[in-house]
Amino acid sequence: MAMFDGCEGNAKTWVLEEMDCPQCGKVLEYYTSRGRIVEEVTCDCGYVLKAQEPVPMPVKKEG
Ligand SMILES: [Zn+2]
Repeated sequence: MAMFDGCEGNAKTWVLEEMDCPQCGKVLEYYTSRGRIVEEVTCDCGYVLKAQEPVPMPVKKEG
């Protein structure tokens, strides 16, 4: 059995995902953690896939 698997809740559990560059169509690889991009990726064409800031919980109150 792999001891490294099944470690839910680890903040460093990054997932490698792919998407097509909206500018040139090249496949970009990026890491996500809990559905958000954790590292900025720059495509060869110059397009920058920005990392997304953590949104742990809403701070502003509506109304
Ligand atoms: Zn591109």
